[in-house]
Amino acid sequence: MSSHHYDITIIGAGPAGCAAALALRESRLKVALLDKAVFPRKKTCGDAIPGPAIKALHSAFPFFQGEFQKLKEKQKIKNSSIFLENGRSIDYHWKDPAYNIRRSIWDEFLLELVQKHSPTELITGIQIDRVEQEESLKLIPATGHAIISSKMHIGCDGAGSVTAKSFNHRVLDSPETVMAVRAYYRGLKLSGETNHFYVFKKHLPGYFWAFPLGDGIFNLGFGMKARRHGKTGINIKDVLTEIINDKDSFHLFNHAEQLSEVSSAIIPIGGKRGQYSGNRFVLTGDAAHLADPLQGHGIDKAVFSGILAASHAISCFNANDFSAAFNLKYDKMIRTGIEKELRKNRYRQIMLSKCPGLLNIYSLFGK
Ligand SMILES: Cc1cc2nc3c(=O)[nH]c(=O)nc-3n(C[C@H](O)[C@H](O)[C@H](O)COP(=O)(O)OP(=O)(O)OC[C@H]3O[C@@H](n4cnc5c(N)ncnc54)[C@H](O)[C@@H]3O)c2cc1C
Repeated sequence: MSSHHYDITIIGAGPAGCAAALALRESRLKVALLDKAVFPRKKTCGDAIPGPAIKALHSAFPFFQGEFQKLKEKQKIKNSSIFLENGRSIDYHWKDPAYNIRRSIWDEFLLELVQKHSPTELITGIQIDRVEQEESLKLIPATGHAIISSKMHIGCDGAGSVTAKSFNHRVLDSPETVMAVRAYYRGLKLSGETNHFYVFKKHLPGYFWAFPLGDGIFNLGFGMKARRHGKTGINIKDVLTEIINDKDSFHLFNHAEQLSEVSSAIIPIGGKRGQYSGNRFVLTGDAAHLADPLQGHGIDKAVFSGILAASHAISCFNANDFSAAFNLKYDKMIRTGIEKELRKNRYRQIMLSKCPGLLNIYSLFGK
């Protein structure tokens, strides 16, 4: 039976795990990044990489800009428009451009940065079944007999985090999720530089999106709060198809040709007071319920929290303190750096679903 000991283990090589591994690259700590998938892997997403995620990676990692410029498969997004049923729209122009990139490509790109620019040991194709707390932490893989242990652990393992489950850790007392679906389409007559959002009164709080990926291909999707979805009993895959085929909706999708199956996944949204750590571990990204309650995006928050988790882990080693009490410093960083903004957006989301007319008023006066 082989045994491998690390200073820090990270489960999950999505945006949060890659950002954490990159931020630990000069720490001289022995770091392992593990993922059950082999990359490139499929990931159900809208593929919209928020501008703040690009900005954060650019300012944290000096090599990012040069490598990102070389990435060909990206669509620059300068504007977003929210279309209302009355024909009006609310339009935004982004100062910091965002990019639409298929997640299979974006996540593989981030992982390649980890391999190229950090001494992290990457172990893919290994599913961790549970994490046990002894003198150090033990990661128990689903198959095989390798023993993986570490002093400190960063849970970047997404929605339904195995780290949180292993420690019976509840991030939020009453967690909320969004249920979302997406598929790839071709043949839409829409701008290739704008992310399009469509709001339908009967599907609030939820929206339909059309995000261009270049070469005439679009990511079309629909998301709605899981509680509402549960109450109404609607099938959101059917809602997506219904909107695309509805000739009265926006007349834009009538000739869309479907290129992929419709796939669904949940988004663990935040905006309430959360507990983001425990003895010897911290949680990031979707594992920490940090997706935005208003728009459903979470790649930016995954990157921010991954970087914060790495900086906190270094301070644990400097202080030789991995206790739950010491890790509350990480909770404080998340509360001020991320949770505060999520709270504001949660209130906005609640207001809009109670008074959808606000969007009409905003479309007349706000820009
Ligand atoms: C339909 C949909 C559309 C979305 N659209 C957008 C969008 O357009 N823009 C945006 O910013 N966000 C969007 N999101 C949210 C976004 O996908 C997430 O917030 C983001 O992926 C979170 O990153 P993460 O690194 O925390 O987790 P993930 O990206 O989920 O990464 C977790 C990783 O952990 C690995 N893992 C999990 N469990 C284990 C285990 N037991 N053992 C080993 N490995 C494990 C997984 O294989 C995975 O690679 C969308 C989500 C959905 C569902």
